[in-house]
Amino acid sequence: MEGIYLDNNATTLVDHLVKEAMDPFFTQMYGNPNSLHTFGTEVHPFMRLAMDRLYQGINAGDEDDIIVNSCATEGNNTVLKGIYFDVIRNSNKRQIITTQVEHPCVMNTCKFLETLGAEVIYLPVNRDGIVDVEILKSHLDPDKTALVSIMWANNETGLILPIKELAEFTKEKGVLFHTDAVQAIGKLKVDVKDVPADFLAFSAHKFHGPKGVGGLYIRKGLKITPLLHGGEQMSGKRAGTVNVAGLIGMGLAMELASQNLEYETKEVRRLRDKLEDAILAIPETEVIGKREIRTPNTILVSIRGVEGEAMIWDLNKNGIAASTGSACASESLEANPTFVAMDMNKELAHTGIRFSLSRFTTEEEIDYAIKALKDSVERLRVISSTYI
Ligand code: PLP
Repeated sequence: MEGIYLDNNATTLVDHLVKEAMDPFFTQMYGNPNSLHTFGTEVHPFMRLAMDRLYQGINAGDEDDIIVNSCATEGNNTVLKGIYFDVIRNSNKRQIITTQVEHPCVMNTCKFLETLGAEVIYLPVNRDGIVDVEILKSHLDPDKTALVSIMWANNETGLILPIKELAEFTKEKGVLFHTDAVQAIGKLKVDVKDVPADFLAFSAHKFHGPKGVGGLYIRKGLKITPLLHGGEQMSGKRAGTVNVAGLIGMGLAMELASQNLEYETKEVRRLRDKLEDAILAIPETEVIGKREIRTPNTILVSIRGVEGEAMIWDLNKNGIAASTGSACASESLEANPTFVAMDMNKELAHTGIRFSLSRFTTEEEIDYAIKALKDSVERLRVISSTYI
């Protein structure tokens, strides 16, 4: 069997329909959409269709904005730095409330803004690995808080945060709410009419679109200082020539993600649960977070006596791609804050192995992975007991 890819929270295969749809925009319709000639203007209807698909995908209204950018890292930076420039720098609202489990593109941007004078509160997760609305209530102060920024679903654990309640409470208090929805699109229903987020970031490559393109939703009436200054693209909200092929691909990927949502929540979940049950049948294994409150594709497991990295290498040798957690945090040896909140002992806290499936994962692959995983655990436990 060819390699089995179980690292879909890091990135996903580009759906072949998406790739096909993008193809003409590299060598045939390659004009700059800002040019006045036909090469420039002929791409407009395709771009409009792609934009419509993005709006429909998250149920945005006509008067809301979606800014097409390079990735969610850019979208999240735009919001956090924009709030710094627009609110924190020139008012008494100097505070951002976020969580201890955000992706580094939020976490490190917040740390940077602290060096410029912003106050940042990093909310801990509870014993279920999620952020309680109660803890937000105890920290949010409408006179001081400029922005609440909380991810929709966690990339390492797959745990889904109570985003509707968090956003509703924040909005009730008249404070802006931002969510990093990277791990939610394509796995959960994302509806900005239901969840009153003001800003929402996503990346196409996490839902079977291409890399290097993403979107930032901005609720109607809100303005934010752009991260990139230059030309008047995106109505002056994000300078730089639009990645036309990327946008076309992202639009279709969004539509396909919505169409496949039911498959994701039923079939992908079934395969995930099958893998998870097999993992839990191995003695002394622990899966982080309750199944019902995780994205349907994700498992983060700790296996006693097995080093996370050793396991990744061993699985890789056997053709299986998994991860020790976030690809971006893989250099860090700090314990995952969710493990800490769950009071897991130190040994387990360093051995997280993440399996993340997609709608392209097959039953055959899961069966093969189960067998390879069991063999790998046996091998590695023998090795680690030999060296103790
Ligand atoms: N936010 C979350 C939750 C993620 O999982 C990732 C990528 O892993 C990002 C943001 C950053 O996405 P990108 O690298 O596409 O900017």
